[in-house]
Amino acid sequence: MYDLHCHSTCSDGQLSPADLVRRARERNVTVLALTDHDTLNGLPEAAATAEEVGIRLVPGIEFSCRWEGRGVHVVGLNFDPQHPQLLQAVEQQEITRWERAQLIGEKLAKLGIEGSFEGACRLAGEGGMVGRPHFAQYLVEQGLVADIDGAFKRYLGTGKPGDVKQSWPVMEEAIGWIRAAGGLAVLAHPDKYKVTRTRLRAMVEEFRDVGGEGIEVVSGNQNANVTRDMQQLAARYELLASCGSDFHFPGQSWQDLGVMPPLPESCTPVWERF
Ligand code: MN
Ligand code: MN
Ligand code: MN
Repeated sequence: MYDLHCHSTCSDGQLSPADLVRRARERNVTVLALTDHDTLNGLPEAAATAEEVGIRLVPGIEFSCRWEGRGVHVVGLNFDPQHPQLLQAVEQQEITRWERAQLIGEKLAKLGIEGSFEGACRLAGEGGMVGRPHFAQYLVEQGLVADIDGAFKRYLGTGKPGDVKQSWPVMEEAIGWIRAAGGLAVLAHPDKYKVTRTRLRAMVEEFRDVGGEGIEVVSGNQNANVTRDMQQLAARYELLASCGSDFHFPGQSWQDLGVMPPLPESCTPVWERF
């Protein structure tokens, strides 16, 4: 059982890399990729635990980037985690992330919401990667919205008053970093971008044209019709198929480690190239 997309406390997940790997093992995952947002920090601990419990850990990352003014995520798999260009890119992403978080804080302050940058940093924890989920948590904490979803809908999502996206690199750049380090670039959760199918095809076509090699045909415990659509998209652009839970924390049955439908048989799995 392959799970090639999940998060630890090194980004916005709730389990430490070690606990995450142990949970994956308990849930019958045999090949796991830890794909924290824009950081490689969890990989050494995850690799050590994977060896201990006897599963295979594939180096992974989920890069934030943009396509036509929209935030998109590109997962890198099976690269050299020591590659200098990749390390430099991760450092740059970290700076971008901090600058972006400050901008989100300023935008929210203009709406009369004070202290959100500090609050988000506190929630991200020491050494954590501050991001929109932490701002969302802060807004919930302040009683401004009922839940995380509401925070994105009202303040943080695409086109909302706290939305900042221009700072991320273009998709092509993120793909380049992954390829330079010998990895495979996979478009994350293509069904989650809230664009029309026509726009999604344009996104996937450009992704392929600038060096992307795969898409997540299966992301979490998704519906069969979504799987079929994504499989057709992979076939149309001759892309490899990946699958991952996008697990962040226990208690979400649609996003738990190893919980997802199998890849359709007509797909060429990305792991054939590992
Ligand atoms: Mn996340
Ligand atoms: Mn993502
Ligand atoms: Mn993710």
